[in-house]
Amino acid sequence: MKVVNIHANVYRLPPSVPWEDATNKVDGLEFIVVEVTADNGMTGTGISYTVDIGGTVIKTLIEDYLANLIIGMNPLDYERIWQHVQRQSRRLGLGVNSMAIAAIDTAIWDLIGKIHNQPLYKLLGGARDRIPAYISEIDLRSDGTIDQLTDRVKGYIGQGYRTVKIKIGKPELEEDIERIAKVQELLGPGGTVLVDLNQKWSAAEAIQKGTRLDKLNLGWIEEPMLYQDIQGHRQLKQAIRTPIALGESMYSKQQFLEYLKADAVDIVQADVAFVGGITEWLKIAHLADAFGKPVAPHFMMELSLHLLCGVPNSYMLENVVGGSLTELGLLEIPIEVRGGMGVPSELPGHGIVFDRDALQKHLLDPAALRNTFAGGSK
Ligand SMILES: [Mg+2]
Repeated sequence: MKVVNIHANVYRLPPSVPWEDATNKVDGLEFIVVEVTADNGMTGTGISYTVDIGGTVIKTLIEDYLANLIIGMNPLDYERIWQHVQRQSRRLGLGVNSMAIAAIDTAIWDLIGKIHNQPLYKLLGGARDRIPAYISEIDLRSDGTIDQLTDRVKGYIGQGYRTVKIKIGKPELEEDIERIAKVQELLGPGGTVLVDLNQKWSAAEAIQKGTRLDKLNLGWIEEPMLYQDIQGHRQLKQAIRTPIALGESMYSKQQFLEYLKADAVDIVQADVAFVGGITEWLKIAHLADAFGKPVAPHFMMELSLHLLCGVPNSYMLENVVGGSLTELGLLEIPIEVRGGMGVPSELPGHGIVFDRDALQKHLLDPAALRNTFAGGSK
């Protein structure tokens, strides 16, 4: 069996609700969708994404450079394919190339699932057939009120969620504490609040403010400071009781190994699209397992569902308000969290079937983007 065709497209659309955190205001999600066809006529669909920037670069890297490397290779040889495209693109550093490899790799795994007529999570280990989910909101607008937060959280509770993640990083910690306390009050005993700083604090600020948050019994504190500061995270972990979650800004198993060796992380949040796809994500998950740490992958709900049901050290599924492929209206067959539980598709492969007409409406026009792109960093 061999790969006979591969092509990529990039789509850009805003999240289905406005997104703003402590350091970013998101304008557009960009999805890179790859189709890999084998000589038996089967097609695998691959997905990667960026937040606001770089989607066209990834599409071009795949189409102009990487695609031809894979033609003629056996799609069952996922590791051989991964190594081949990684070695060829490694001079680009990390980031763009691992996102491009992720689009190819997820297409290959989808194809393998179809060849074996098995859902992806079974191929990845089949450790479970469902996983608890948390709802994750990106709503830290300066004009946002506690009443608005309260209304939203009541809605999440009504949907069956018992764990809620909110963004914090207001100028005054008292304001963050007030918002956290309100959500805890609504969730009641047995509920859990997670908080995300998106790297807002300095290392010194993290220790000072993290210590004050300790008494709130949060489920975790996410990306408290710059992701490169391993030493700072190690010191914070020694100073506070609240678990530290991070990983969405890292791109390879080596970066995770450095954090794990330094004992600077509690919950590993590798993003399947950023680390180079399922092949690399599995290695990170198993690496974390060897260090006794659970995984809670960032974003990509429909794909992360399979990953979490595959490996033994799974923690929780993230469902970002306004950001799942289902909620964005891009899927022919919706994949939804129900009653706070995520259940993976039983279709062969990953079961992510795009609504081609819906997708086509968001085809990225580079010429239009060139004249309007304004960025989202604060
Ligand atoms: Mg985050």
